[in-house]
Amino acid sequence: MTNLEKSLNKKGRRKNSVAILGAMFGDEGKGRITDELTEYFLNKKRFKNVIVYRDNGGANAGHTISHDGKKIGLHQIGSGILHKGCYVVLGKGMVIHPSDLLEEIEEIKQVFEFKELPANLMIDEMAVLSTDLHRAFEYALKNSSSKSLGSAAATGRGIAPAYADVVYRFPLRIRDLYKRDWKVYFIEQYNRYSKWINGLGFEMKDIKIQRYKGREYKVGSCDKYIKDLERCRKLLKPYVFNMYDFIFKNWNSDTPFIFEKAQGIGLDSRWGLYPDVSASNCSLDGITYSTEGIVNANDISARFGVIKSTYTSSVGKRVLPTAMEEKYATVIRDEAHEYGTTTGRPRDIAYMDLVMLEYFCKMGGIEELVFTHMDIVWDSAVKVCTKYKIKDKVVGYRPDQEYIDSVKPVYKEFKVWNIENLKNLRSTKKLSKEVTKFLDFYSEYTNTSSVMITYGPDRHDTLFI
Ligand code: GDP
Ligand code: MG
Repeated sequence: MTNLEKSLNKKGRRKNSVAILGAMFGDEGKGRITDELTEYFLNKKRFKNVIVYRDNGGANAGHTISHDGKKIGLHQIGSGILHKGCYVVLGKGMVIHPSDLLEEIEEIKQVFEFKELPANLMIDEMAVLSTDLHRAFEYALKNSSSKSLGSAAATGRGIAPAYADVVYRFPLRIRDLYKRDWKVYFIEQYNRYSKWINGLGFEMKDIKIQRYKGREYKVGSCDKYIKDLERCRKLLKPYVFNMYDFIFKNWNSDTPFIFEKAQGIGLDSRWGLYPDVSASNCSLDGITYSTEGIVNANDISARFGVIKSTYTSSVGKRVLPTAMEEKYATVIRDEAHEYGTTTGRPRDIAYMDLVMLEYFCKMGGIEELVFTHMDIVWDSAVKVCTKYKIKDKVVGYRPDQEYIDSVKPVYKEFKVWNIENLKNLRSTKKLSKEVTKFLDFYSEYTNTSSVMITYGPDRHDTLFI
């Protein structure tokens, strides 16, 4: 039995269920792994369907899938969408921007020349709406106070304000779009956000936000806002469902489930490097919430943490202790196209930090590692941080930038492997000594097992371990 099969069939767990988590700061390759695992399950004749379930984040995610020379960055839609037989569920824990979602559906059809989406897309009617008003409010917040410590984390996609609405007890959920008197709620929302934005010194109708692919868009008047929602609610209607019975029935059958998380544990609001964190729950337990407890996340058999094997990347203000010297970082950035899928921002490049990884695995509930980007190595050794020191004392990670600024990384070097050899392997039985040593060190350090290696961005540039 392979490690992958073992992970999917753990004793006492729900078989053929797997969570795909970002184990560092996002952009590790979760999308392509989800896409490939969807195919893996569907290739087994005994499964007619697979469910790919997203439980967190929204249009701030960017999950790339590449196939047959075609490539797309998915934002709100789960990465099983290219497969017939797959149900892609956008869960209650997500925040959904309706018009961006419609554009994403159209882009998938266009890039892959589909008349209809191959997978079935289902939106939980309980998912929270993230609207243009949230983006406008985020803009006003960000621009009214340059001193706000966390504002750098904002992607301008209105994610945090949409989640905040729930805590304020003013949320608007997808189902509210379909109430008979729906306009009343949305006009009230427009008026409330206009007042808040006025208080910050801006006018709602003048604010330019970013819509799909960063296109500038003026929110404009309340009338314009309602008209746009009127269009979206009609077009989205076929995808909106009460998901409870569907999830209940399938979780209690043998349908494979892939829970595709967005962002990474390093961005989780509790475990990430405060204050530059994301608003959503990036760890395993978010799945329990999103499914209203139908899926107890502790029952999920495999819990994959995806990492870029030989380095880590990060977008935002956070400063990683292992930040790479710019002359090396540039090489990696170009070789691995390290520019944000959603924002296009150049990503910061750092050496892999096992101290963080070990903590993120523990807090994120990760039990297996997926090693992507095994093709990105440089001529000399692969340098990996294995310890932090403050003065001469060995210390651990804490989710706090001010603390992290005071630690000094200590590195270990690994011999590089031959990439061409790795690419030509058909099975992991013949992995080179260098690769095996590298994988084993990570697994031992983080108390996980290794299940997959990827050595290129395309579907099938993969070895199952
Ligand atoms: P996600 O947000 O975790 O789904 O990851 P992204 O799609 O934002 O970023 C991952 C980037 O790495 C994308 O540009 C992928 O095409 C690319 N990628 C994924 N796996 C590999 C790999 O094994 N090697 C290389 N060179 N690139 C990869
Ligand atoms: Mg991404």
